[in-house]
Amino acid sequence: MFKSKAFFAAAAPIKLLASLVWLCFSCNSAPTQEPDKAAAPATTSPDTAYAAALPAPALADAATILARRQVPVLCYHQIREWQPSDSEAAKAYIVPPARFQEQLQLLADSGYHTILPDQLLAYLTTGAPLPPKPIMLTFDDTNLSQYTVAAPELERHGYKGVFFIMTVSLGRPRYMSRAQVKELAQAGHVIGSHTWDHQNVKKYQPQDWITQIEKPTRQLEEITGTPITYFAYPFGLWNPAAIPELKSRGMAAAFQLAGKPDEQEPLYTIRRIIASGYWSPQSLHQNMVNSFD
Ligand SMILES: [Zn+2]
Repeated sequence: MFKSKAFFAAAAPIKLLASLVWLCFSCNSAPTQEPDKAAAPATTSPDTAYAAALPAPALADAATILARRQVPVLCYHQIREWQPSDSEAAKAYIVPPARFQEQLQLLADSGYHTILPDQLLAYLTTGAPLPPKPIMLTFDDTNLSQYTVAAPELERHGYKGVFFIMTVSLGRPRYMSRAQVKELAQAGHVIGSHTWDHQNVKKYQPQDWITQIEKPTRQLEEITGTPITYFAYPFGLWNPAAIPELKSRGMAAAFQLAGKPDEQEPLYTIRRIIASGYWSPQSLHQNMVNSFD
């Protein structure tokens, strides 16, 4: 049975708390406790009482979050061959499959581990440990090649990604279908919200928050059967007024592009860089180091 929006809005902090509880267990508790069992409360309704019975961990303030070492977050769009009609500028957003393959191979050979937003949030807010050489791989705009080319390549390396879906495109030619988005979620990738039709949040009128955020997010929750608590700003553009709007609609964090994070709200201005189609694996790595270290 599909749960209400109010449940999911309330579930965002509970989900965070539940993952923190899990992390506490994984650090401190009996070695006989299997991760599956420890994590189980996060997916069943009694977790509210379970989490409430434990003292809430202190969450880091903005300055502490900003002082932590950044995790590199890459942003991809299309994974396909360049066509003669592609402009020079567009080619930055189009990574040929062989290049994508060699970029991922370099990450794997260099010992990078993909992490998902829940892990990033736990790290930023509590200092929870991450795997060695953490990295997050994100995919914007619903392009079909993310399902047909990128996802199998991620799987080959045991990697998981985050797919920020623009819902207007679902089921259109060259875009993912609802069933494909659901399949990605079921395979352990994370589905995030990227508005209905990619309008700049800085220009929203009150009604736009419903059209661009509430309804598309609800649709993604119906498709995946899971809460949607992460958002990527179209064009990477944001302003401070957008942040309370996202919070009130259940978003636990939001991703921009390479701009400076907000000093008060770093979790709603997490940085990413576009992994360019022009970049060899070595220049990808160099750009990651330059931007995030
Ligand atoms: Zn986009």
